[in-house]
Amino acid sequence: MRVWIKDPLAILAEGAEGGIVVHHGRIVELVTRGGRPAGEIDQIYDASRHVIIPGLINTHHHFFQTLTRAHPAAINKELFPWLAALYPIWGRHVTPEAFRLATRLALTELLLSGCTCASDHHYLFPPGLNEAMDIQAEEAARLGMRMTLTRGSMNLSEKDGGLPPDSVVQDEDTILADCERVLSRYHDGAEGAMLQVALAPCAPFTVSKRLMVDTVGLAERFNCRLHTHLGETQDENEYCLAHFGTRPVDYLEECGWLTDRVWVAHGIHFNDDEVHRLGRHRVGVCHCPTSNMVLASGQCRTRELEAAGSPIGLGVDGSASNDNSNLMESVRHALMINRLTYDAASITHLDVLRWASEGSARCLGRDDLGAIKVGKQADLAFYTLDELRFSGAGDPLAALVLCGAHRADRVMVGGQWLVEHGDPIGIDVAKLRHDHGEAAKAFVAAL
Ligand SMILES: [Zn+2]
Repeated sequence: MRVWIKDPLAILAEGAEGGIVVHHGRIVELVTRGGRPAGEIDQIYDASRHVIIPGLINTHHHFFQTLTRAHPAAINKELFPWLAALYPIWGRHVTPEAFRLATRLALTELLLSGCTCASDHHYLFPPGLNEAMDIQAEEAARLGMRMTLTRGSMNLSEKDGGLPPDSVVQDEDTILADCERVLSRYHDGAEGAMLQVALAPCAPFTVSKRLMVDTVGLAERFNCRLHTHLGETQDENEYCLAHFGTRPVDYLEECGWLTDRVWVAHGIHFNDDEVHRLGRHRVGVCHCPTSNMVLASGQCRTRELEAAGSPIGLGVDGSASNDNSNLMESVRHALMINRLTYDAASITHLDVLRWASEGSARCLGRDDLGAIKVGKQADLAFYTLDELRFSGAGDPLAALVLCGAHRADRVMVGGQWLVEHGDPIGIDVAKLRHDHGEAAKAFVAAL
């Protein structure tokens, strides 16, 4: 079936003003303004009401945190006290069913905002939740979204001087064995893969050096990506200096992590030399503007990092520091915070949309995603400008960002419609809201 997505109101692609042709899940032709596809067409989709952009790609999240949004113990705090307030709560027993609902809810929120590929940095493996990655694989398949399962880890707890409680950490052998199991079962390196796996020690201050080093070896063996939190706060720099005698980037280098296989979350508190070293090694940085503003963590030096060679992607971050999973909202926040860091001319709506698509795809190592070009996967987000907030808008692409698009009208992944008329196909949103809300209440109330 060759489908011509015809005459969009606007599209984020050069030479595709007349639309695009999708065949076997890929973009096979761009149609110029007033033109017709060169090949035969089986179906025409009239996109004259739609602004079309590449499906957004989320490169940092913690789905389980949807169970503890806006928690009274954690609001109005910066990262370390915020973590100290939440770790004892996260250390309670998360049932597989609550985790499943948290995953389904976060993925659905992302999808409705226009996200087609998500990664989730999951690092809590209390007893009974050994199959967290399997649950996430099932939920991504159920929705039809692409996902990078990001197998997190923590092996330093309070007894070792770390922040997390003993109940949520695992020992190194258990962690590495499960990483290998998840990689063998789910990591698909082929073009158009629906599932990939990345390995992701939580942060330099929650894992041992040996685990950092051994994780690199495993990633090289399976040719997968590596991820961790880095440079989120000044507290982290001080902690690393006190405990390891080095700053976080030096520590990362000692562990063999300065490679183009790595993307890090946040990437705020780097000095000039660190920015250049990260760029030289093509280490990707997931910019999380919303979370950084909520926790008052600081401002990512996106311009300098990009100029140095680092891909910049975008992430909503976990739902206790955002506290939503709307990637399109984070695109808008990226524009705003970067205009404070730099100026209005240096950061445009096209920059922030590029970070959330092409830049994020580079962070995840996906050269088959992130742009509307011939040969790329047909992962697309369609927005209408029918809401009041868009009325009177001039430039339709700029309007998505400046007027604050929140919800896609249609979303396509690999040529399949996953959202139509603003609704996710196969998901009862009211039931999901009810079931997740009940699971969250039970989780927060449990001792
Ligand atoms: Zn995070």
